[in-house]
Amino acid sequence: MTAALALFDMNPPTTPRTRTRFAPSPTGFIHLGNIRSALYPWAFARSTGGDFILRIEDTDLDRSTQAAVDVIIEGMNWLGLSYDEGPFYQMQRMDRYKAVLVDLQAAGHVYPCYMSMSELDARRERQMTAKEKPRYDGTWRPEDGKQLPPIPDGVQPVLRFRNPQGGLVKWIDKVKGEIAISNDELDDLVIARPDGTPTYNFCVVVDDIDMGITHVIRGDDHVNNTPRQINIFRALGQEPPVYAHLPTVLNELGEKMSKRNGAKPVTQYREEGYLPDAMVNYLARLGWSHKDDEIFSREQFLQWFNLDHLGKSAAQFDEAKLRWVNAQHIKASADDVLVPLVQAQLHKRGIEADERLKGICALFKDRCDTTAVLADWAAVFYADVSPVEAELAQHVADAVRPALALLADKLASCAWDKLGIAAVIKEVLAAQGVKMSQLAMPVRVLVAGSAHTPSLDAMLPLFKREKVIARLKQA
Ligand code: GLU
Repeated sequence: MTAALALFDMNPPTTPRTRTRFAPSPTGFIHLGNIRSALYPWAFARSTGGDFILRIEDTDLDRSTQAAVDVIIEGMNWLGLSYDEGPFYQMQRMDRYKAVLVDLQAAGHVYPCYMSMSELDARRERQMTAKEKPRYDGTWRPEDGKQLPPIPDGVQPVLRFRNPQGGLVKWIDKVKGEIAISNDELDDLVIARPDGTPTYNFCVVVDDIDMGITHVIRGDDHVNNTPRQINIFRALGQEPPVYAHLPTVLNELGEKMSKRNGAKPVTQYREEGYLPDAMVNYLARLGWSHKDDEIFSREQFLQWFNLDHLGKSAAQFDEAKLRWVNAQHIKASADDVLVPLVQAQLHKRGIEADERLKGICALFKDRCDTTAVLADWAAVFYADVSPVEAELAQHVADAVRPALALLADKLASCAWDKLGIAAVIKEVLAAQGVKMSQLAMPVRVLVAGSAHTPSLDAMLPLFKREKVIARLKQA
């Protein structure tokens, strides 16, 4: 058995350091369900002081696109899921796979199979009719003393992996517990096509070995591949890594999340005003828990994360919960962190903010569940407002017009700060004999376009004086 000698062409460390990977296929934009399969291996590598590797599994040439790779990388960068090595592209490693295949064949773990597609189909058909599990019957599998059929002319064979017969393939899955599959359930897998290109399960194993992966954390749609991959590991003289197969992420309708049923690309959430730390917090909880903690920072998550508290059942996406988590993070964010994010939202609306934006973020952040909503508030300070007719009618009553006019007058010359404005409001209330709420509601509607704002003396100083006066005069 020589194949093992040729491995480790990437010189991964020989010390027992954690090495995890995210291995997406770039066959469509990456959604939240996919990126969770990046979050956990990233977190595990970070929390154990190991390495996290990005590998692009782009061997499906018809469906893989550079645009999908770009979204993967952009989404990971946005969420701060930094990788230490890669991206490695499987298509650039074909020579490597072929070389390992040659060794594996020389060691007797691989054999050519000349059965034509039509013959395979016909046999499968017969097995199905006989209610048997369709499987390759081993016609071309060499055995001591067995006479193989004559090699047909002009047929390029596939290469099949000589799966061990008898016994169990067992592993302790970090999510699912012990899994044992009988080798007799597994037929001899095609690991190279007639044109010599290696197939998926083989490439994954060569990569996981070459990249020194110690923990494979991936979606449980791959759990059926695992016994086959473990057998290939052993044929290559290697022990398999630790596996953790994560349950599916369901959408709000309880279907498997996919772009075909409405999942959004990860980067869309940035556009909609979600904070990366809130996304990490929300995604972390979608299949993992730490006591009853719902809101936590990235640092806490990395301190707490391990593979022992992964959920066993499918997690369901809930946009309302995501918004709530985002709101908690916005509230807890430093104003300086929010300013550029809100600025970016305002830019999209053609609005240029100024130094007042920091104070605006401070005042409004506890009532916003996205930075887009925060930008809606900020826009009130920089662009025109159009109060709702019904609110105008309700709050801007004739009885209060003289008070509004007096307020506009007095605001023209007072100190433009919280104290100065509070004093002027008090004077107007006393002079006109109106109650605070009678004055405050119409001022809110006229100046901010909404009756639901923070207190006037906190909010008004953030407006330009002329703007407040002009809006009051529209009463
Ligand atoms: N490329 C596979 C996928 O996108 C992942 C394979 C793996 O993690 O082993 O589903």
